[in-house]
Amino acid sequence: MWHRNPVIRKPETDYDLAASHRSAANKALIEGLRSRVFKHYTDYPKLREAPWDYNDELPLGPAERKALISNYDLLSRGRPLASLRDEILASARNGLCAFCGRNDVSTIDHFLPKEKFPEYSILIDNLIAACPRCNQKKRDGVGVPGRRYIYPSTSPLACSPLLTCIVTVEDGTPYFDFEGSSSLDPEVRQCVEFHLDTLELRDSFSIGALNELLEKIDLFRELFEIGGTAELLVQLNRCKSSIVKNFGVSFWKVAVYEGLINCAEFTQDPVSATTCLV
Ligand SMILES: [Zn+2]
Repeated sequence: MWHRNPVIRKPETDYDLAASHRSAANKALIEGLRSRVFKHYTDYPKLREAPWDYNDELPLGPAERKALISNYDLLSRGRPLASLRDEILASARNGLCAFCGRNDVSTIDHFLPKEKFPEYSILIDNLIAACPRCNQKKRDGVGVPGRRYIYPSTSPLACSPLLTCIVTVEDGTPYFDFEGSSSLDPEVRQCVEFHLDTLELRDSFSIGALNELLEKIDLFRELFEIGGTAELLVQLNRCKSSIVKNFGVSFWKVAVYEGLINCAEFTQDPVSATTCLV
């Protein structure tokens, strides 16, 4: 989640390839926009951080807009930019959606929607492998000032734990509440909260956390019986380390295990804390 493997491609080559496969009229429009679009490519990293600052610096007529947006059709299977589509989908870490980390990828999302930003319709940095659920919920939204979606990093080092999970126990049932980590810069935290709310990920993660616990509860109970809280904590930390290693530190399951480790009700009596689960 929030991490993808880098894809090495020259966006200018993709643009020129697209132009060369369009009808004569569209080709002329796309070639005529070339230098201005390429200038906007260099602005992309800044703009994706604050898309609401966009002042339509690239005024486009309806025909130009349409020509740029429909370049994206060339990514379909068997078409000239199919390899771009394949590379984007292959960039998904562990084959999982970069926005939720819950579902497999099968679609490509325009991080900055192509209807609002036609110039980025085939820019590789703007194309994110996503699950249909996140893609559909995100639609053409870019957020509002100070609150936007989290852009998936291509640098594992830049990925910090963005989520906190608070685990509480009530009547033998554990509850998992997800929020932006309190250690984050307040601006980033606001964006995480926006991302969780808009893509409705809190419920999705809670269901995932319950399933994870159900899968492991027999082992946890057994270890607790053998070595008490200390043995259970060793195993919980082991699970957490394995997920960090395989999925990265920002993956939602890391927060789940941290939440369980910090939940004294669970670590001191995992049987009573999960009576309703088994
Ligand atoms: Zn997703």
